[in-house]
Amino acid sequence: MQCGYCLPVCPTYLTMKKETHSPRGRINLIKMVGEGRITDLTVLEDPINLCLGCRACEVACPTEVEYGSILEAAKVALEKRKTYSVPIRMIRKTVLNKIFPSKSSLNLISNSYWLFEKTGLKKVMRKTNAMKKLPYHLGEFEATMPPAVSPKIRSEFGSFVKAKGERKYVVAFFTGCVMDAMFKKINNLSIKLLSEVGCDVYIAEKQTCCGALHAHTGEMDDAKELAKKNITAFEEVNADYIVNNAGGCGAMLHEYSELLKDEPDWKERAAVFSSKSKDISQILVACGGIKNIKPRSNERITYQRSCHMTNVQKVTEEPLQLLKCIPEVELVEMKNANMCCGSAGIYNIVNYDESMKILDEKMKNMKETKANVIITTNPGCLIQMKLGVERENLSDSVKALHLIEYLAEAAGIK
Ligand code: SF4
Ligand code: SF4
Repeated sequence: MQCGYCLPVCPTYLTMKKETHSPRGRINLIKMVGEGRITDLTVLEDPINLCLGCRACEVACPTEVEYGSILEAAKVALEKRKTYSVPIRMIRKTVLNKIFPSKSSLNLISNSYWLFEKTGLKKVMRKTNAMKKLPYHLGEFEATMPPAVSPKIRSEFGSFVKAKGERKYVVAFFTGCVMDAMFKKINNLSIKLLSEVGCDVYIAEKQTCCGALHAHTGEMDDAKELAKKNITAFEEVNADYIVNNAGGCGAMLHEYSELLKDEPDWKERAAVFSSKSKDISQILVACGGIKNIKPRSNERITYQRSCHMTNVQKVTEEPLQLLKCIPEVELVEMKNANMCCGSAGIYNIVNYDESMKILDEKMKNMKETKANVIITTNPGCLIQMKLGVERENLSDSVKALHLIEYLAEAAGIK
């Protein structure tokens, strides 16, 4: 329709001010390629690579244009024509197919990072400014990482944790790859909270990475393979719900039904899986919320929404409901709360400058709330918010936390 209703919600249109970097412009370009009016796909590269994939445009569109599918098709087409040098192709394949989907590889990396911290090597590298020399601003991101978790804490739970008190639901917990490697403590707190509100929690051993990173980089066959592995792993548990605590992963799990809709052997199974897939906030609310929550005085909080949780899973109210149950906490919504923070998977690493412009806008709105705690529900948003706090020199007065960390702390769960 080209009405342009999607323009004001698009972070890249607002910061880059180009029609080609708006949803309408991107759709037009893709359409022209589809109709054969543009034959050189190079024109698509910059607009598509700089799209965050936040899908705010999809929600704003009055005619329900499915921008997510259009974007994915364009990414697949662009990926097909890319030629990587042999070393880059090998690194890419190793990271996407050997590291992210492998629990043992991720455990090895996480335990090595713990050793790196424990032996004091990390401190030395920070002191000598060696971290700052890492490529892609990785040193800045490293500074926002939570403390490494010991191998003992990493193996705190086996494959089952019983509900405390009367059982309300049987759930299977989706651990994720980044969440499990870098935010293991939040995963452990999630399991404890689920048990606390009355869930029997299973941790399916054969589960793997959700495949979001693969799908967003145009590697759809790999994404489908991972989806099938997860569907099979969770069918073995047969829980009432499959629960995740990361907006981006949750959106991917929610869309397995779409991803596998053309595969007769998987269509039904994927639909069942997606219908059971829920964000942890939905389950905590469904169980009646968290009991024995203590007041937190002098705290003013704001909630940075995860785009994929808001625009794809359409989970918007439950996190707020849970936060509002904490006595004495003042919750202030920031302006343009639904707008992406610029994290978007690895967008902030590969498109650092563009991402920081979007983050600066977000931090401007955050500062207006005068909040001293920023709550998020996705690991990428959490890292980006921590980076924003550092960039604004606010680390003495503002902290960024995952919703689960904040709720567990208020409930006295460690
Ligand atoms: S995508 Fe939707 S909102 Fe955007 S221009 Fe097209 S019809 Fe309008
Ligand atoms: S997905 Fe986000 S960044 Fe991309 S066109 Fe839509 S609103 Fe803009």
